[in-house]
Amino acid sequence: MEANMNDQKQKEVVLSGIRATGSIHLGNYSGAIQQFVKFQDDPDVDCFFFIANLHSITEKIEPDLVLKGTRDITRVFLAAGLDPEKSTIYAQSSIPELCELSWLFNCMVTVPTVANMPHFKEKKDLMQSRGTKETAGLLTYPILMAADILGVNGTIVPVGKDQEYHVELARDIARSFNSKFGDLFTLPAASIGDFIPSLQGSGKMGKSSGGQTIAINIAADELKKIVLTAMTDPARARRTDPGDPRNCNVASYHHIFSSTDEVTWAEAGCMNASIGCIDCKKVVLKNLEALIAPLRERYEEVARIPDKEIDEILHEGGIKARKIVMAVVGEAKERMGLPFF
Ligand code: SF4
Repeated sequence: MEANMNDQKQKEVVLSGIRATGSIHLGNYSGAIQQFVKFQDDPDVDCFFFIANLHSITEKIEPDLVLKGTRDITRVFLAAGLDPEKSTIYAQSSIPELCELSWLFNCMVTVPTVANMPHFKEKKDLMQSRGTKETAGLLTYPILMAADILGVNGTIVPVGKDQEYHVELARDIARSFNSKFGDLFTLPAASIGDFIPSLQGSGKMGKSSGGQTIAINIAADELKKIVLTAMTDPARARRTDPGDPRNCNVASYHHIFSSTDEVTWAEAGCMNASIGCIDCKKVVLKNLEALIAPLRERYEEVARIPDKEIDEILHEGGIKARKIVMAVVGEAKERMGLPFF
């Protein structure tokens, strides 16, 4: 079933999750959470946003950290503007049926399919370089991700470009299930967010940047330091040397965070050496500060919300999402000859 192919009036179902480990940085915000907020305000969309705390234990299980991370990400959702009255916000661990659905899918997916996924190869090598063995959970977590998506019959999945193949796997599983057991799942589509590069080298912020990230509540002076010391086109060794914006991530930031006029100004000024790199970076800094200042302020407010209230939001969201997942999983099991006796 292509998403909404047969019923144009049916609402889209947007679903996405954020792992409960590490801090939320600009890459997560612009790559995913900013999209969540836009979808939330669309009356033709039902939104499900979850804290992927089951995905957070695939490499290491640290109970205090994962619990704290679950609450912290919930606060970030609130700071970014997600509203529990408009979006269903929950923790993955509140829905045991997701693990059940994941098991059903595990029995439909071959080992080479998951073993050849880029994330597994990367993480396996990393874990082995640290002297630890990869877990079975690390191998099969894309299948749990498929259960997250298909459990609520998600139709749109906001993700970063590097997660697109996980949505493809969910589509393949849905297609395979539907052809064997009858149409049950809609085929989800990825909605790709902005790619935010590192300012200290190549690669994506937070992954290949040696840990240097811009937290969404970063202090103004720290932000200034990171932006003004960002790497630039090596060809611009002197102020009078022309540069090539294609070789500079500051230029990429202009494309994401600056106005069209500012992009034109920066690129022309770089290529004809009429501006210096500091002039160029200061405009990026101004635009990033304008984006981050309200988030910083709001984050300070939500940091004061007691854990009990955060847990209540997750509890309410969990009940709502679980009801939907239970119905889907019950139907899937019936069709597979696995009723609840
Ligand atoms: S002028 Fe701007 S785009 Fe060009 S190298 Fe310097 S920082 Fe990068």
